[in-house]
Amino acid sequence: IGHAQTKEEVAGFTQTYKNQNFEAKVDSIMKLMTLQEKIGQTAMYSGSWDQTGPIIGSNNGKYIREGNMGAMLNAFTVKGTRELQQIAVNETRLGIPLLFGYDVIHGHRTIFPINLGMSTSWDLKMIEESSRIAAEEASAEGLHWTFAPMVDIARDPRWGRVSEGAGEDVYLASQIAKAYVKGFQGDDLSKHNTILACAKHFVAYGAAQAGRDYHTVNMGEDELRNVYLPPFKATVDAGVETFMSAFNELNGIPTSGNKYTLRDILQDEWGFRGFVVSDYTSINEMIQHGFATDSLDAARIGMNAGVDMDMMGSVYRKYLKTLIAEGKVDKALVEDACRRILLAKFKLGLFDDPYRYIDEKREANTKYQPEFLAKAREIAAASLVLLQNKNKALPLSKNTKKIAFIGPLVKDEYDILGNWAAKGDRNGQAVSIFEGVSEYLKPHQILYAKGCDILKEDRSGFTEAIAVSKKADVIVLAMGEGHHMSGEAASRTNLKIPGIQPELIKKIREANPDKKIVLVLMNGRPLNLSDEVNLVDSILEIWFPGTMGGAGVADVLFSAYNPSGKLTMTFPRNVGQVPIYYNMKNTGRPIPEHNPKEDYKSNYIDVPNSPLFPFGHGLSYTTFQYSDLELSSNTLSFSNAITASVTITNSGTMDGHEIVQLYIHDKVGSLTRPVKELKGFQKLFLKKGESKKVTFTISSDDLKFYNNNNQYIAEPGEFEIAIAPSSDFKFKHVFQLN
Ligand code: BGC
Repeated sequence: IGHAQTKEEVAGFTQTYKNQNFEAKVDSIMKLMTLQEKIGQTAMYSGSWDQTGPIIGSNNGKYIREGNMGAMLNAFTVKGTRELQQIAVNETRLGIPLLFGYDVIHGHRTIFPINLGMSTSWDLKMIEESSRIAAEEASAEGLHWTFAPMVDIARDPRWGRVSEGAGEDVYLASQIAKAYVKGFQGDDLSKHNTILACAKHFVAYGAAQAGRDYHTVNMGEDELRNVYLPPFKATVDAGVETFMSAFNELNGIPTSGNKYTLRDILQDEWGFRGFVVSDYTSINEMIQHGFATDSLDAARIGMNAGVDMDMMGSVYRKYLKTLIAEGKVDKALVEDACRRILLAKFKLGLFDDPYRYIDEKREANTKYQPEFLAKAREIAAASLVLLQNKNKALPLSKNTKKIAFIGPLVKDEYDILGNWAAKGDRNGQAVSIFEGVSEYLKPHQILYAKGCDILKEDRSGFTEAIAVSKKADVIVLAMGEGHHMSGEAASRTNLKIPGIQPELIKKIREANPDKKIVLVLMNGRPLNLSDEVNLVDSILEIWFPGTMGGAGVADVLFSAYNPSGKLTMTFPRNVGQVPIYYNMKNTGRPIPEHNPKEDYKSNYIDVPNSPLFPFGHGLSYTTFQYSDLELSSNTLSFSNAITASVTITNSGTMDGHEIVQLYIHDKVGSLTRPVKELKGFQKLFLKKGESKKVTFTISSDDLKFYNNNNQYIAEPGEFEIAIAPSSDFKFKHVFQLN
């Protein structure tokens, strides 16, 4: 076995091992590989450039031929992917296929709402379906691997990447993380339509100081273990195959060189058997952090800490051999990294058929399938959050004589896809709000004015916009952020609707004091809407809703779809409250909710502590009544569960979904516990007039947290409990854990 030298011998070899487990298959290949070839597997380059310049066809081909490259990101075409794979398979000694990765974040061709938007649907099934569809489309283009889901908890809307995650809550974000992994990876990775998922960015990236991207994180074990790690653990439980380390440092140690999180927690505690890729040059960046002296040192730290693959850094390729020779890196670690990477390639079936994912015909037949677009429309509608609806300004009626649509985003087909949608068609396939509402209205009912740009300070369109608003019976404003204003390196210190848009809102209200005004808001983060809540009647938060966004928005505006989304991140009253989130801790001083003037309390003297819109908040066109909570017992033991139930009645005039939320509060703990913690939710559909009983089971497992000795335990004592429509409620019921 160990003497096989040629590709043919290797092929014979894999054949022999066909019926054996993957680890054995990997061993069979590893025995044939030189050290340099093993190191080669740990290097990933981009299809378009590396640090030394553009490389498609040049260095790429060279690196592959030399066996110096195991994976590639951003390989842009099916044809190009095939050519590169041919080099790997036909022109290298062992013919080990390449792994092709890409940022398939919220859809690939068919773009779904940004991830923060999908989270506000609280619909795990839909989220799983979205990533299943994304995997179908991506795999048909030759991609094997997505750098998703991002499972960073995010509590600071100044940080641009809140748009890529599932919000502030540990429980909900963990459930959503699992749904994405299941959708991407499916039940069998060897199928040609399933791809590897990647949990990122490990870890605590979302806690960047002051919301500035890549910034320092200093965090105690309590917050790390109980808030930032659980969604990652959830992806391991769901079988995620890869992890990505992060850019930030954590307690003085960059996360791409952090042995504690990468080896002690991820590998040893959680038993993760997949591989870890660095973020884009994040190993090299340890030099800039002041943690590595030079590239050689950075490679040493990264490999020793447990980063198996170097994305774009070139430091593993260049220095691992020397580091091993000098005794600074144990060869066994590099072998382990190589083994983990090859394991993924085996699971994908790439050794059986390296081209199985590369299929022009499947590519052409897969993208934008009608059922994908229909699903995208449904998810877009389900992700919208009706924040405010005064004077029942929504829904709109198809019979209204004239409706004015005003704002820079009415006809937008570009920003509507949000960030990370490079393969989405921004100018053709994407449905604008204007196109969406045109399905419901006749042309003569629609008035339009752009009014202004998102950022440019040009007021020349104001006059026309105001004139148009005066001619209408109802006014709909479509405003917000450009897609480049959230995402990576897009932190903001000002959370207002950008540019002169707020000024235009004010002018339009002044010109139309008695008219109903609806604000349709497109943006990638919670904004400060303190002025707008008083200027407009209704606010519909649409995030960046994707390819079918305009259609989904119109469905909600005209009540073909009753809005049901609920916030997964708190909306602050102003930027000074940030970070603000519902599951905060108590202080030793009471926290007055509404009286800013009380002395020596944990408050601000200028605004209340409460947010503008709380976590879990979202209105419907119908109303839901909650009956009083019933507990099956007031005591819970470590071996027996109890149930909590309420009856929910749709007391309004329209069928609709309600997202019912279960919260608890552990009153006293060996570590202090949050004032409220989401522990379950159910999304119900209720016809008008219908009632349903909702029951949650609570066992001691649901009450566990990491204590000061890093043990995951539930502690006896008294717990408060509630079932509520949002996080804004007061507890009335208690139970005991004995
Ligand atoms: C981002 C990652 C992304 C990677 C590859 C980095 O800049 O932080 O989230 O997966 O680039 O595109």
